[in-house]
Amino acid sequence: METHVLIVDDDTAIRESIQEYLSIANFNANSVASAEDAIDYLEKNQVDIVITDILMTGMDGFELTDLIKKKYDSEVIVITGYSAEYSYEEAISKGASDFIFKPVRFEELNLRIKRVLRERNLSKDRIEMLEKLKKLAITDGLTKLYNSRHFYIQLDLEIERLKRYNHPLSMLLLDIDNFKDYNDKYGHIDGDKVLLIIGKIIHACLRSMDSGYRYGGEEFTILLPETNCEKAIKVANRIKQILAKEDFIASNGDVNKITMSTGVAEYYPNEDLREFIKRADKAMYKSKDDGKDTITSLAHENVSK
Ligand code: GH3
Ligand code: MG
Ligand code: MG
Repeated sequence: METHVLIVDDDTAIRESIQEYLSIANFNANSVASAEDAIDYLEKNQVDIVITDILMTGMDGFELTDLIKKKYDSEVIVITGYSAEYSYEEAISKGASDFIFKPVRFEELNLRIKRVLRERNLSKDRIEMLEKLKKLAITDGLTKLYNSRHFYIQLDLEIERLKRYNHPLSMLLLDIDNFKDYNDKYGHIDGDKVLLIIGKIIHACLRSMDSGYRYGGEEFTILLPETNCEKAIKVANRIKQILAKEDFIASNGDVNKITMSTGVAEYYPNEDLREFIKRADKAMYKSKDDGKDTITSLAHENVSK
């Protein structure tokens, strides 16, 4: 892709000569005569590198560098005079990537632009890689739902938020029924396929603010912010209905139905986080006791039903 460069200098001769040189060197080069015009330009255009003079009337090159690094996704190279008392160090401390002395030597400018671009790409790659790693660290590899570690972090955050806004928060805890039998009969790989499909069903049933987790081997949790118990039961029912429609085909061709037992709990003010999870767990076990494929909600003891 063509590199977009903006030259900012109130000296017309310098500005135009740099622009001309960079255009010949195959850069998409544009120029403006002041920092204010540069900001206008950056508002409308994605620029890779801004080359700016330091001493200008109006906003100077330091302020411009500072602003660019705060607001725009561009690198900055500053141009400074040999005898200027303004040190390039100040520009670097404001976030400039490099500096060049006047009079500008074009070959040197070209080399510096290339170095800055190389570093810019490296740092973008590094940021992308870190984001991928961050995502991997909180995702369950099989189901692509969040993992249990992230569940505890997110639950903490949701409870903090709930305290601020006094909104409801509910949790579903779902456990596959008789999954050991399925694994014993068809093997682990077929069992994993079941987990994968259930992960997709859960994902499809959630609103953007909800979050689904693989809590343990064949157990899932769902956090439903802004949702009271009654509405959470509806979400659980929706998942149950979609699951009931799904045919699970084993590798030997057998067609099976899979069910889950679900526990529902709405967070009770100031409830301990572990107590909240335990309550959802108890509700889930009551569903098991009641013959599985069932949804049970359990209110806090201090809440009258
Ligand atoms: P219940 O209805 O009481 O929940 O019975 P269950 O057989 O589902 O529960 P149990 O806790 O006895 O066994 C859970 C089984 O889930 C054991 C194991 O075979 C299976 N399981 C757990 N994690 C995985 C996994 O990652 N992949 C596969 N394929 N199976 C798993
Ligand atoms: Mg289990
Ligand atoms: Mg189970």
